[in-house]
Formats: sequence, structure tokens, C-alpha cells
Amino acid sequence: MRYSQAFLFTAKETPSDAEVISHQLMLRGGYIKKTAAGIYSYLPLAWRVLRKIENIIREEMTREGAEELMMPAALPAELWMESGRWQKYGPELLRFQDRHGRDFCIGPTHEEAITDIVRHAVSSYRHLPKNLYQIQTKFRDEIRPRFGLMRGREFIMKDGYSFDVDDEASATTYEKMYRAYSSIFRRCGLSFKAVEADSGQIGGSFSHEFMVLANSGEDGIASCSKCSYAANLEKAFNGNTYQCTPRGSTTGERVSTPGLSSMEQLSEFFGLPAAALVKSVAFMDEEGTLCLGFVRGDREVNQVKLERLSGKALHAADGEALAKAGVVAGYMGPINLPADTRYWLDPSLRSLDEIICGAGEADFHLRGLSPAVLDEKRFADISTVIEGDCCPRCHSELNILRGIEVGHVFRLGTVYSQSMKATYLDRNGKEQPMVMGCYGIGVGRTAAAAIEQNHDDKGIIWPMSIAPYQVVICTVNPSRDEQSRATADSLYERLAATCDVLYDDRDERPGVKFIDSELIGIPLRLTISQKTLEQSSVEITIRKSGEKYLHPLETISEEVA
Ligand code: ATP
Ligand code: MG
Ligand code: MG
Ligand code: MG
Repeated sequence: MRYSQAFLFTAKETPSDAEVISHQLMLRGGYIKKTAAGIYSYLPLAWRVLRKIENIIREEMTREGAEELMMPAALPAELWMESGRWQKYGPELLRFQDRHGRDFCIGPTHEEAITDIVRHAVSSYRHLPKNLYQIQTKFRDEIRPRFGLMRGREFIMKDGYSFDVDDEASATTYEKMYRAYSSIFRRCGLSFKAVEADSGQIGGSFSHEFMVLANSGEDGIASCSKCSYAANLEKAFNGNTYQCTPRGSTTGERVSTPGLSSMEQLSEFFGLPAAALVKSVAFMDEEGTLCLGFVRGDREVNQVKLERLSGKALHAADGEALAKAGVVAGYMGPINLPADTRYWLDPSLRSLDEIICGAGEADFHLRGLSPAVLDEKRFADISTVIEGDCCPRCHSELNILRGIEVGHVFRLGTVYSQSMKATYLDRNGKEQPMVMGCYGIGVGRTAAAAIEQNHDDKGIIWPMSIAPYQVVICTVNPSRDEQSRATADSLYERLAATCDVLYDDRDERPGVKFIDSELIGIPLRLTISQKTLEQSSVEITIRKSGEKYLHPLETISEEVA
């Protein structure tokens, strides 16, 4: 592509509403254009990257025996009622009616749709296994879309679904998908970790998230320093025991309460209506301070705002900021130092009246309330903390890392096949539910995560495999230096046959061209000038290391390949 003809507009200024680097650089590099909150147009540069990621996905899925199809984005409510998710899914599901008043939604994920397809075709064990996937635009009405392509409302997902005769066969498919995912993210040039995870909205029994390690990640990961154990923080701390004094206790006796991820137990323990606490968040500050927050059903956490607050001594004003970040109650404190644990909560919860808060040795800060007022409120002591081991496998210390969830593999079991009656006849002619798995990858999020991991103060540094262009050719003075221009023209023709080349043929100063190619993140730059031509050479600059060297024009194709 010739730059002069490309739809490629870069910007110098960092957009003020972009909090993370990938979002900033995608906007500045002319990759994306916001159309509405969480809804983006992928401009030609981004589209090239996304298609490359998609193709890597296709190759690896094919290698493991999966087959591509395409399902509708608009899905009828009836299917979702069958699975029970029409009621359960909540406001993230974008619902609408057609002109006849029939209910529909735009698919946020496609378990119902695929199960409907498969149950109509598969009737015998001889037809199994089946493994199908699509790469499609999804819609989730995220409460707080943010970070550009990382958390959009409309986004491209690869979603795959497997159907097997039994648990054992399903586990084998799961392993294949796990392997495919590892290859996909490796080929995308990402440093990642597969971690044990909860199954969330989709349901199911067993799952792994593929996390790209990056400080801007919204997820916390607990990773064992000795063994291979790694889990999403929510999962890692689920099952731990906390020592607490129950609300209303007059004797002050302490009881054990299970891990903070169990919402039912939490709500019971805290005396909060279950609906008030639907999610816990766990995160770490740089010094390893564990912070857990409970989010009400109608709110979501703003992790960035929380990050800025975490680990600080909390003051009245922080309470307000935490409330704005969406967290209504929780505690902060280093994992191993219970005495330092601090509790806080959003006073708006007082309207629920029965709210707990800690007392005693803990250090309380409530917006607008002094500790004296707290005591009068008869808050019970829940000064706690984690008892027992963290690494659940080998009892060693856990490292806390931050990650971006780019992929998620689930063993669903028979959740959908039972509710939607997706059955087959086994060898003995007996009806059995198919055993399912599902497997998602955020395509746009993967691109964003790649930038989070690969950038410097000049811009993006794409891994070669997913770069929009692998090579950029820059002429230094095209309007006055005919020889360089002609050489660049023919080099462009030659290279374009074997790789993706951007030819910066603009009549601009070299400095401008260099700045743009660095911002856009093209891995190799070939500069042609009178000086390099005197030696029948081209100057190669490697974006990642900044290394520069002259290479003979003759063999440049081999060098670039
Ligand atoms: P998150 O925890 O970040 O909300 P999720 O667990 O809800 O993600 P899944 O249902 O597991 O997401 O969907 C599969 C994949 O789709 C995720 O691993 C992620 O890569 C991608 N994804 C999910 N939500 C979004 C979004 N709002 N924007 C971009 N990609 C997303
Ligand atoms: Mg989600
Ligand atoms: Mg998730
Ligand atoms: Mg997930």
C-alpha cells in the first residue's frame, strides 16, 4: 500500500479520554474510530491486524479438527428461554422486538444457538464428536465500556463449541482447544499464562482463562512461585477460610467463613440481601496489598480508579472515590498482615440498614462518619483474615500478577444439553445428553493486549505475525531525488509480492515519516537515500531494538523474509 493513497491519519496528541496505552496508541495511530460508547469502526490498519489474528485462530482451530460456521447475530428469545438465560442474563443482554412484537437479543455468546443447530442434526453416538466455531461480532451492553477494543460493547469474538459423548471425550476435546489456544497466543507473539478460573455467566464446571500479562490488566492472577498452579484471584481465594465475628454476636466468638467469592455466603454473613452483592473483585497494588471489594448488582467496578486508590491509607475522601469506582464494601490489607486490614464501605449502603463494618483493631474510615458514630451503629467485628495456605497445591507463596483475559475455555458439561434437550442415542440405544465445551477468544482484545505488552514511548511495536504491515519503505526526499524514488518504487513492487509492505511515498520530511512508522508500529523500516544508494544498499531499522544497519539492495527480499 502506498501511504499517499492509504486511509491513514495519525495524531500527535494523546486523546484525553483514553486511559490505557493500547487505546491511546490505537487512536493516535489511526487504527480505530469511536462511533458510540464501546462501539468502534476498525479502520484499515486495525482491520489488517484483526484479520491476521483471525487467520492464526483459523489455522490452529483447523489443526485441532474444529470447523468454522457462522450463526446469526440476532437471536430469538425462545431459545434463551429454553436455557433459562433470558431471565438470568441481566442488562448486558441487548434485547429488542421486531415489528411483530417478538422478543430478540443480539448474541453476547452463542451456546443456545449452537445447541439448537446440533440437536436437530445429531441423533446418534456415531455423529459425535462435533466441534464448531465462528468468528463474529458480539454485543454485550457492558455497564462501563472502556479501554477501546479491550472492553467494548460491540466486539469480535471467536466462539467455539464442542459436543461429545461423555466427560472423558469432552476432556480430550478441551485439551485440544487448550493446546490450540496456547499456539494461537504464542503465534500472536504474546507472553501469557493459562489460569484456573470461575465459569461466570456461561455456567459450567471447569475452566481456564488465557491471560496476557500486563500491568493494565483488569484481572488479578495468583501464580505459585514453586509449582505450576495459577488461578484467577477470585478463584484462588475462593475456598480460603476467613476468621470473623458474626454480626450481632455478643460473646465475640470468632467463626470461620468460607472464601469471599461465594456470594450467597457473603450476603448471609454480611447480612446483605443477596442481590446487593453480586460480585467480588480482588486486586493487588504494587506492594502486594490484597484488596477485595464487593460490587452491588447495579454497579461495576472501575478498576483503574481502584488501582489509584489501592494500598493507600483510606480517608473519608477515598470512600467517596471508591464509591464512584463502583465498590460498596470491602477490605484492604496485606495478605499476611491481618492487623493491618482496613475496612470500608459506601455509606449509601446504610439505607440497607443491616450493614456490617469492622471494629476493634481495624482502622475505619467511612465517608462522613467518625469512628464514634460507627460504634453507636453496633457494627460487628469482622476483623479477619486469610487463614491457611494460598497456594492450595504446594502451600508455597503465591505471586500476584495482573492480566488481560484474552481467551477462555470452559467445560460446560450438560448444562445446556439438558435444559435444551440436546440428546443422542448411545451404543445401547439409550438417550444421553451431549457433553459440551465452549471456547472464546476476544479478537480485538487480543490486538489491544499485544500493544499493552509491546510498546515504547514512540508507539506500538507489533509482533511480526500480527503487524498490519511487516515492512515500511521510506524515501528520504522523493520529489528531488529521482534515483531513490525509482529504486523505492521497484523495491516496493518486489517486496509486495512476498509480504505486507507500506510504502511511505509522501513528500514529507524523513523525520515525519519515521515518527509515523514508529507510532504505527511497523517492525522493519527500509530507508532509501542517496547515501545508502552510493553503497547499493538500504538502511534497515528494527523497530523493537532500534538497531540500524545497511543491507545490499540485491538481497533485501531474503533479509526481510
Ligand atoms: P470479562 O471478564 O473481561 O468481562 P468475560 O469473562 O465476560 O470477559 P467471556 O464470556 O469469557 O468474557 O468471553 C470470551 C472472550 O471474549 C473473553 O475471554 C474476552 O477475550 C472477550 N471479551 C469478553 N468481553 C469483551 C468485551 N466487552 N470487549 C472485548 N472483548 C471481550
Ligand atoms: Mg464480561
Ligand atoms: Mg472474565
Ligand atoms: Mg471469561
